[in-house]
Parts: sequence; structure tokens; C-alpha cells
Amino acid sequence: MTQIGPTSEDPSRRKGVGPLIPPLTEAQRPLRQQIFERIRAAGLIPRVTLARELDVSPASVTTICAELIDAGLIEEVAPPRDAETARGRPAVALGVRAGAHLVAGMKLSDREHTAVIVDFAGNLIADMAVPRQPGPMTLPDLLAAVETLLAGVCAKAQIAPKDLSAIGIGVPGFVDVALGIVHWSSVLHDRNVSLAAAATAHLGVPVSIDNDANLVALAELWFGAGRGLSNFAVVTIEHGVGMGFVMNHRIFRGSGRLGMELGHTKVQLDGALCRCGQRGCLEAYVADYALAREATTALNRPITDTLSINALLESLYDHAKAGNTTARSIFRRAGRYLAVGLSNVVNLFDPELIILSGERMRYDYLYAAETLAEMDNLSINSGRPRPPIEIHAWGDLLWAHGAAALALSVVSETLLSANRDIAA
Ligand SMILES: [Zn+2]
Repeated sequence: MTQIGPTSEDPSRRKGVGPLIPPLTEAQRPLRQQIFERIRAAGLIPRVTLARELDVSPASVTTICAELIDAGLIEEVAPPRDAETARGRPAVALGVRAGAHLVAGMKLSDREHTAVIVDFAGNLIADMAVPRQPGPMTLPDLLAAVETLLAGVCAKAQIAPKDLSAIGIGVPGFVDVALGIVHWSSVLHDRNVSLAAAATAHLGVPVSIDNDANLVALAELWFGAGRGLSNFAVVTIEHGVGMGFVMNHRIFRGSGRLGMELGHTKVQLDGALCRCGQRGCLEAYVADYALAREATTALNRPITDTLSINALLESLYDHAKAGNTTARSIFRRAGRYLAVGLSNVVNLFDPELIILSGERMRYDYLYAAETLAEMDNLSINSGRPRPPIEIHAWGDLLWAHGAAALALSVVSETLLSANRDIAA
């Protein structure tokens, strides 16, 4: 037998090879969590199908489902009467007990604050949108705004805030979801704010926070076009440019939870000044303040207290539609920079789908045929078609839905995590 490599190894000092994966990773969640998530995703599912899909014994499924039923998290649902077939009545199905928990999701933005309340099965109970004056707030002002919004949406749902099991809040900017810290946001004056802890103390309900673009990706993953996709990108164009990326059916965040800042990738050396303080960021060419900067010159209308950015951009859009070449060139230029950003996403991640989302997507010049053609030119030429691009201009309630999905996942993970007795 041929010996490969050195033979002088001391067997007592073996270090091993291969990735050092902790016993419980994202991919290897506790079985009861996998079972619960499968039931939640299916809507209704019989035990026998659960066992087959998760490749576990029907006996383990029966045991764990009995625990989940005892804990009040799932329930048995009888099949509809007309489901009788030649092979007899179909099996009793399991579903999430919708009334087990209620959560709220909120999005705070420069233009308006929105909120939804959903039940444990993800059904919408109430929603609310409140316009606001743009600009950063102090933490006490932001907490007061959150409290008012929460009181309003709870009144619509005919519940008290203390009836909620968790709240998810999305803010623009650099957010560490694990530590609950906002490092920087356009809605907050201060940097490095422990917003999750402050909001939890202020509202008396556990609060989780995340970057708003991640929450749009989460909304697509839980409620929208991304439910069946393993890898896709959501690019948001609003006051800033954001991206949420789903990898293997989970939001990818990076090692310090600050990844995927597409808006601050550089598209021009020594280029336009960005809100982050650096130059040449994609956001500085595509976001609304970038368009507004050029519009004030093109339309000769400075932004005043009576002329908002929104009104200015609407006016610019009207001029572009009416054939004003300067107005058109502003949107086209932004579209070309967007093409650079999107082709970088394609070249880096090869996603199955790119969803463009946010208020600005109503301005169709941004994704005109020439923008998409430019993107094709800049994407690596593999001979395969580039990933499809869909436009979802669903508005802020979608973002709030993403925040509610964050709250739902926090509740279920807390209840079902490995070291916890779910009956407690
Ligand atoms: Zn920047």
C-alpha cells in the first residue's frame, strides 16, 4: 500500500480537518422547530406528510406535535367535508393556532411610519400609516412616535399593546439585529443607539430591530415572491438604496450583521458625496436626495418648507413624461448607475431573482429598457440569460409585514429553542 504524505504525526495531537460546524446551526435546527416551521409554511399539513418531508419517523412527529398542541402553538384541523375521496377521508391536518400570539411590525422612515398587527399564523389583523415631517429624531422623540403608532394600530385591532408577544421595528441605516443597535440611521440624530433595549423598556414588550431592506427581503421570503426561492436579492430604492439578500432561504447578514450595504458600494471614484460621508456611493446617484439635488437645478426650484422632496420628484417625473429632455436625462443617468449596481449583484451572487422595491420604483425611467440593456452589458457573459427582475412597488405596509415576520420568528424561536421547555 502506498503511503501518502508525512508519517511522523503524533496521533495524540490530531487537529482534524473539515469545517468546524457547531452542532446546532441554522441548517440543523431542533426537530420541534423544524416541525413547527414546516406546519407554519404549509398552512395545513397531515402528520404523515410532515414525517415524509422531514425524513423522520412518524412516531417522533406524533410525539413532538402532541407537545406543540399541549403548548397551544398548533392545533388539529378536520379536513373539509367535501374532501372525501374514493380512498376514504383524508388525514386530520395540523395548522398553527392563529390566536396563540399576536405581534406587531413597524417601519420607521423619513416619509411615514407604518405598522401592522398579525396573528401567530401571519394573518393581518390591522394596519396603520402615519405621515411625518422628514428628518432625524432624538431617541425620546422616536420612542414617543413608536408609542403613538402602536397605540393607534392596537386600537384598530381592539387589543392593548401588552397583548402583543413581540414587536419588530425596521429602520433605514446600519443596524445590528443581534445586538439591537442602530449604528447609524437617517431617522435618528445619534449614532450607536441601543434602540431595541430602549424600545423594550419604553413599551413593555420585547422589541427586535433590523435594517429596513432586510425586512423587505424577509417580507418577500415569508409572504411574497421569495417563498419558494433559495437565493434572491431585494434592492430597495427610497430615501436611500438598500439590499436584502436571501441565501439558502435565510437572510444573509455578514459576520458583523452589517453586510449587503449595496447603496454604499462605490460606483465612481471621487464621485458625488453620500450621506454616509464617503464619495461615489451608488446611493449618491440613485436615491431620492440624489435625484432631488439635480432636480432643484433642472427645474430651478430649491427645496423649501412648502416644497417637499416628494413633490419635487413628482414634478420632475411629470416633466420627464411630458418630454422634458433634462428631466429625462436625470432619471436615465440614475438608471445607468442602478444598472452598474445591479450587475455587480448579479456578478457576485448569481441570484435566481432580483426584486426592485420601494416608493421610487414608480419612476419607470429607472428601469427602462436601456437600463436593463446596460445591466446585461455589465453582467458576466455566461451565455445564460440574466436573472429576471421584478418590480414590487408595494409600499410601506409590505415593509411593516417584514418587521412582523421578524417578530414572529423571534417568538417561535424563543418558544422552541433547544434548551427550553415549551410547556413552561
Ligand atoms: Zn455612502
